[in-house]
Amino acid sequence: MLARPGLPEFEYIRAGSSQDVFDLLKEKGADLKLMLGGTDLFVQMRDRAQGPGILLDVKGLPGMQEIDYRQRSGLTIGAAVTLNQLSTDLDLKEKYPVLCQAADTVGNYQLRNRATLGGNICNASPSADMAPAALVYEGEAVLESPRGERSLALEQFWLGPGSTALEGDEYLKAIHFPPPPPGARGSYLKLGRSRMGDLAIVGVAVLGYPDKSVPAGLRFRIGLNSTAPTPYRIPAVEEFLTREPLTEDLISLAGEMAMEISSPIEDVRATELYQKKMVRNLTVKVLKETWESLR
Ligand SMILES: Cc1cc2nc3c(=O)[nH]c(=O)nc-3n(C[C@H](O)[C@H](O)[C@H](O)COP(=O)(O)OP(=O)(O)OC[C@H]3O[C@@H](n4cnc5c(N)ncnc54)[C@H](O)[C@@H]3O)c2cc1C
Repeated sequence: MLARPGLPEFEYIRAGSSQDVFDLLKEKGADLKLMLGGTDLFVQMRDRAQGPGILLDVKGLPGMQEIDYRQRSGLTIGAAVTLNQLSTDLDLKEKYPVLCQAADTVGNYQLRNRATLGGNICNASPSADMAPAALVYEGEAVLESPRGERSLALEQFWLGPGSTALEGDEYLKAIHFPPPPPGARGSYLKLGRSRMGDLAIVGVAVLGYPDKSVPAGLRFRIGLNSTAPTPYRIPAVEEFLTREPLTEDLISLAGEMAMEISSPIEDVRATELYQKKMVRNLTVKVLKETWESLR
């Protein structure tokens, strides 16, 4: 017998319209799972963590594979846009570079040809690499249901590991990002066990930008993964960094604060203490780099 048995049997259906999705979600309920690239889903099914009888492929729905940028309203990325599409889009590299950089850290090239932004968001893993970048660009989940469309800030979308605010009759259509603040700079730094595509032990994204209304003259947004039940921002640290002109000492203190706020749990990849220290070190490193590029 195989140590890891193959996939359980399932029926594969390709949705042609939103109505197909609503009808099937209503009819089949928990026996149906929505599918994009399948890179999370198939692993969970192989490991028997998920056993849906039906996979409903929603990649072909209108707009799901589109990237739409408008100067006034910002960026809308269809849920089925792959991570390779994101990491290689020249326009995005210029306007939302932290998203492209984060996409490039996920798994390997072959995986990123299938793995999607929507799947990364809906899987609701605390270690999702797209999450810190999506948080610093203040991403919103665009959700579609028979009642119409609604948008939900990502911070409210993730409820815990594997758990989201999606209603039973809803699906993720796109992720929307407002225009980044003028002059914004930033980056995503991921610590994994290897460079060959491992989940994050800690990941930190920082976006900094000029803001004359605060004593520091700068503002920073900081997003983290892997060190709490959901990806998160640290508003207390962000606020602390606005109070006076920035110095290396203040950045070190911000790193200590981030470490205190984080609440990792020990897992196969790292101890709690190591993760906490890495939150501090990575936060300090990305803040310094971002500060440098703003000066
Ligand atoms: C070898 C390997 C390496 C990996 N490395 C990384 C890594 O470095 N970093 C990282 O973050 N992740 C990693 N992953 C996880 C995975 O590849 C990503 O999370 C990926 O982005 C998931 O996208 P997908 O399109 O394959 O999602 P899917 O597997 O299709 O779906 C993921 C979840 O979202 C739900 N879903 C899908 N579409 C919708 C929708 N439209 N509306 C609502 N719910 C929906 C599904 O039902 C499922 O629960 C790795 C996976 C593997 C197998």
